[in-house]
Amino acid sequence: MSQMRLVIVGAGGRMGRALIKAVSEAPDLVLAGAIEPPGSENLGRDAGELAGLPGLGVEVTDDALPVFARAEGVIDFTVPAASVAFAALAAQARIVHVIGTTGCSPEDDAKIEAAARHAAIVKSGNMSLGVNLLAALVQRTARTLNEDFDIEIVEMHHNRKIDAPSGTALLLGNAAAEGRGIELGTQGVFARHGHTGARRAGDIGFATLRGGTVVGEHNVIFAGPGERIELGHKAEDRMIFARGALTAARWARGRKPGLYSMRDVLDLTD
Ligand code: NAP
Repeated sequence: MSQMRLVIVGAGGRMGRALIKAVSEAPDLVLAGAIEPPGSENLGRDAGELAGLPGLGVEVTDDALPVFARAEGVIDFTVPAASVAFAALAAQARIVHVIGTTGCSPEDDAKIEAAARHAAIVKSGNMSLGVNLLAALVQRTARTLNEDFDIEIVEMHHNRKIDAPSGTALLLGNAAAEGRGIELGTQGVFARHGHTGARRAGDIGFATLRGGTVVGEHNVIFAGPGERIELGHKAEDRMIFARGALTAARWARGRKPGLYSMRDVLDLTD
């Protein structure tokens, strides 16, 4: 099969740069474009140089549609408003769209789902093999343990992160809720302050830590009477998300339109 032509949007971001590096290291993939928003200081620069590599001959531009028209897939770790707009453009171009952006509202997700009627979209709050395997283990554990075991999710990220709790914490919370047959929307507790009263049985609690350069740490605690189970994951390098996103793009190539998750890609669905 010929090399898959991929566009990186948000090319100048932390993940964008990691993705350029990951594509340039993969013999079966080729960088077909690099997009930044209008006004970005990176416009006109070489994408390779942006990622600290030798020049790749791909100039960063803000004009996405003509670039999408010549590509087979777009990898998107940006902000929700941009991902919604890129989903419409990728659907128009009928190309694969891999979305790692977190913090999307239900309205954003509805627009992305609508775009998935025309193109294959893989969206996940965490693209790493480890976290998706962890989610499967969390779901399994939650199914086994009853409400005597309180579920709490603790996460820590670097001080530049703009959404909370992390997309990964929500992914793990949803896995726990699914295992227990409940809805995270009604049983999730996302903040505690002041006189909160006692913990409600069956709730899933979240605690968010921010600081330094932490790439991402998550712990899911099942605290029962007299014993505690902790399942966790520590990301040490952004490249695990970048490589996971590329695995998703390869998997989605030639697949029929629809909204897929990393658990589909990694075949971790029960
Ligand atoms: P970041 O460093 O702030 O990068 C975001 C990039 O998107 C910036 O280069 C930004 O450009 C660009 N951007 C914003 N609007 C755009 C537009 N309309 N068109 C093109 N580019 C646009 O953030 P990050 O740490 O890389 O994270 C990005 C997202 O990925 C976050 O939502 C984060 O939570 C998520 N994430 C997901 C995973 C996963 O596995 N799913 C892993 C890590 C991170 P400007 O700076 O010029 O605005």
